[in-house]
Amino acid sequence: MTAIAVLGSTNMDLVAYVPKAPHPGETVTGREFRTVPGGKGANQAVAAARLGGEVVMIGAVGADEFGVRLRAALAASGVETAALRTVEGASGTAHITVDDEGANSIIVIPGANGRVTGLEPGDDSRIGAADCLLLQLELPLEAVLAGARAARAHGVRTVLTPAPAQPLPAELLAATDLLVPNEHEAAALTGLTDPHRAAEALLREVPEVVITLGAAGSLYAARGRAPLTVPAPRVRAVDTTAAGDTFVGALAVALGEGRPVPEALRWASVAAALSVQRPGAQSSMPTRTETDTAAL
Ligand code: ADP
Repeated sequence: MTAIAVLGSTNMDLVAYVPKAPHPGETVTGREFRTVPGGKGANQAVAAARLGGEVVMIGAVGADEFGVRLRAALAASGVETAALRTVEGASGTAHITVDDEGANSIIVIPGANGRVTGLEPGDDSRIGAADCLLLQLELPLEAVLAGARAARAHGVRTVLTPAPAQPLPAELLAATDLLVPNEHEAAALTGLTDPHRAAEALLREVPEVVITLGAAGSLYAARGRAPLTVPAPRVRAVDTTAAGDTFVGALAVALGEGRPVPEALRWASVAAALSVQRPGAQSSMPTRTETDTAAL
């Protein structure tokens, strides 16, 4: 079994479905409201656990009702939550408006995530015991850096999803083994919109890169090797929320099992393609059996 540590965010997504998003000063009547567990860290943790990884989640929820639900949602998918602290104040929330065209606008309030500024006792050994550490950028950078340092000290592979896109400190890039941006994040990091050129530029900073390209699949590049394009299975997408998180969780599981990169990428693409055919983030993520037996 692949042991995976995730140091990252846990948010409650508060989703309002409206015919049309309101302008400043305007009030509109929406159709429906849903609360759904999310956050990139928690999403990647759930994806990996459903796919057979042994996953520990490191981070924080608030001392509120959302915190209780967020922890329970992780545990229900088999994620170990002993290192997920409950801290004073509110849990992280994402306030999402989705209109009838499917366009969304999002306000993220970090809440408890913003209070994770480093590792707590025990986290270093949790990271050291893992095959790989999954990092994203929804926690304060100091915490992400502390995690990356711990992984480096233990020789644990780090996989960084650079989202939300922002300039990355040299120390973080130097401690990253595999960088997995989507095409927008890759362009934001490099100023290059062509994924092949962006991948080439990123390889000056990290040894391996996967740029995800939505329905067009993904591009893998590693120093000294020819780039590899992996097409995505052709499916009818109903909701692509957390497609990237499903992809990363799956990739970490497959690589940890020692599967060759091309095979790991194809398997991650199948898992992500299954997730886009169902609504929601964590609720759309496939199980191991579904992914192994999918005829895609
Ligand atoms: P993010 O969700 O981070 O924006 P992408 O949109 O690039 O990332 O999607 C991540 C991966 O999910 C893609 O590389 C692809 O394998 C899969 N995926 C995304 N959208 C689709 C789609 N419409 N059909 C099939 N697979 C998809």
